[in-house]
Amino acid sequence: MDKTHDSNLKSWIDVEENSDFPIQNIPFGVCSPKEGGDLHVVTAIGNFVIDLAHLDEAGIFEGTEIEGAEIFHEPTLNAFMSMGRNAWKETRSIISEILSKDNPTLRDNEELRKIAVLSKDDVNMELPVDVGDYTDFYSSREHATNVGTMFRGPDAALMPNWLHLPVGYHGRASSVVLSGTEIVRPKGQTKPPTSDEPIFGDCKRLDFELEMGVLIGSGNYLGEPVPVDDAEEHVFGLALINDWSARDVQTWEYIPLGPFLAKNFATSISPWIITLEALEPFRCSSPKQDPEPFDYLKNKEDHNFDIELEIHLQTKEMNESCVISKTNYNYLYWNMAQQIAHHTITGCNLRTGDLLASGTISGPDKDSRGSMLEIAWGGKEPITLPNGEKRAFLEDGDIVTLKGFCKGKGYKIGFGNCIGEIHPSL
Ligand code: MN
Repeated sequence: MDKTHDSNLKSWIDVEENSDFPIQNIPFGVCSPKEGGDLHVVTAIGNFVIDLAHLDEAGIFEGTEIEGAEIFHEPTLNAFMSMGRNAWKETRSIISEILSKDNPTLRDNEELRKIAVLSKDDVNMELPVDVGDYTDFYSSREHATNVGTMFRGPDAALMPNWLHLPVGYHGRASSVVLSGTEIVRPKGQTKPPTSDEPIFGDCKRLDFELEMGVLIGSGNYLGEPVPVDDAEEHVFGLALINDWSARDVQTWEYIPLGPFLAKNFATSISPWIITLEALEPFRCSSPKQDPEPFDYLKNKEDHNFDIELEIHLQTKEMNESCVISKTNYNYLYWNMAQQIAHHTITGCNLRTGDLLASGTISGPDKDSRGSMLEIAWGGKEPITLPNGEKRAFLEDGDIVTLKGFCKGKGYKIGFGNCIGEIHPSL
């Protein structure tokens, strides 16, 4: 912990008490001014974004590892992410300093302020990371147990491998889209239980999955596994992920190689990456693991974080959204360090910008489930919304918003929103 985490730290920029982005957060994203201009790397504070390319040009980062690297003029965070932990920490510490109440560098420089401090209403956020490879895990015991119970009954809910390794699959990176991108209902093959033959048509069991995504900063070389205790050194930060799923397509296609088209049409990511540095005060232990994992998966330290998560739903008929589930990142049985150690134990190389999603995060209670499949128990127990409408799966016009935040003393570290609206099939 350092002075960037001090809960008494205040900025000369006014930040509302409930803001996701106090001076202790310092998230990273990419945007361009609505009135026109290049994409730049930015941070957020309160209702403002700070253009780091302009700060760099003004010499704010002189004497640091990133000086002269021109990484903030890039249209993605990848170049910055590839520089490693020391560069990320230096950058965070300088931004924290120049946004602090008593620091005049930017506060009293009207010319620089005019081009570098922009209202969030005057910019368009863009996809922050060029995602090279996308891996989706299945690391919530509660989620795996719920899904297994529905498909195989309570006695065979967890497959024999589940408690020994973080189960995952290689997903599709090309359809990772920015929060706000419309989600078009996919078409595909399904085989309803009532039919002897498969049918082709619109997905009728469209679902969301509440997940957190780990964004890889510096990668590893092919043939050099990442030890579990070094794994976090490779993590730039976390974002909210909605891993949209076509459940009826999944049920028909997934044997024997796992999900394919049921998962490849869209995965939404929130625009701000929250760094591990910002999350440090919220570090916590993971659920106890029994049986004990193999040595290559055994942690010495805590690698989980106390991040509260919410799913909001708004239908076409509703004027405002309602919360349909609340859960927490810290329910994850397999943590990010174990996921990275497992992913690379074969020598597989992770690269800058790779996305490792946690898998759907469900908690122990009925109101802490991370997918509609579980919330409405496979369609058998539709939920009733405040206006009387019922939902078993998503309908056209439904808007799903994921939120995440850590509660600090007098401030919160928020993740912003990850939003998607369902549009009719093409
Ligand atoms: Mn998933």
